Amino acid sequence: MAGTTTLLVPGQALAGGSTASPGPEPTSALAGAAVGSLSPSRAGDFLTCALLYRFRVVDRLPEPPSAAAARGSLVHAVLERLFDLPAGERTPAAADALLAPEWERLRAEEPELETLFDGPEELGRWLASARPLLDRYFRLEDPQRLEPAERELLVETTLEGGLVLRGYLDRLDVAPSGAMRVVDYKTGRAPGRGFEAAALFQLRFYALVLWRLRGEVPRLLQLLYLGSGEALRYEPDEADLRATERKVLAVWDAIRLATQTGDFRPSPGRMCGFCAHHAICPARGGTPPRYPGPRTSSVAG
Ligand code: SF4
Repeated sequence: MAGTTTLLVPGQALAGGSTASPGPEPTSALAGAAVGSLSPSRAGDFLTCALLYRFRVVDRLPEPPSAAAARGSLVHAVLERLFDLPAGERTPAAADALLAPEWERLRAEEPELETLFDGPEELGRWLASARPLLDRYFRLEDPQRLEPAERELLVETTLEGGLVLRGYLDRLDVAPSGAMRVVDYKTGRAPGRGFEAAALFQLRFYALVLWRLRGEVPRLLQLLYLGSGEALRYEPDEADLRATERKVLAVWDAIRLATQTGDFRPSPGRMCGFCAHHAICPARGGTPPRYPGPRTSSVAG
């Protein structure tokens, strides 16, 4: 039987304690065996809208920075750095104090983020908008009781047919018993009833990679929704991860077929609200650029 899903509510204690490369690219480090690589983000793009996947992976069209995405990066950075502090100092005030320096660091890495704000007042309001997200984090778990084994961990494995799976985990906790818990922070709201499985695809993907790498199924997958202060927990099992592998391979087959034929269809939906490519999307009356062909997208095999 597949694992179980639980929606936790604010104040409920939690026990214990990506992106990644684009899809169909040969992996030079694994040359010979590899036929391409896939991350949960890009697989998710393809499942949501094949045309969006094409724009991002095949055409590699630039996307302007957004304040919401930048806030997500900032909150992730603060929560990563929070665990550099001694356990007793991991307080809401300490997290708050990390906002400005982490913003400075992000801005130095991505100077185009500067264009998001029209002056220091707007920047100040945006920085302040990250505080409620951090406050909700502290309502979901107590970082003073946690010692993560890993933060921002790159995981990568090669499936039997040569497909490389890779991605970055926000956090991996390992109990003294060796039991693993994969934690991912989301700055949006928890999914509505019936949409939990789609939301958990990314963590199932990571669980599959960890299982292949370490020979053990993670005990718990945990999504912390800082937008609504809820947590989604899932206990996977081997059968579930085998099903995930079949799904990943089916997605990969569909990507390869679309890449060969150039048939990437738009799927208008909720994602359109976050898409930067309305002007060239046929679903919005636009015309995509000429398909550059499968060689550009580097599908092999
Ligand atoms: S606007 Fe919507 S349908 Fe068009 S590419 Fe973007 S996500 Fe897909």
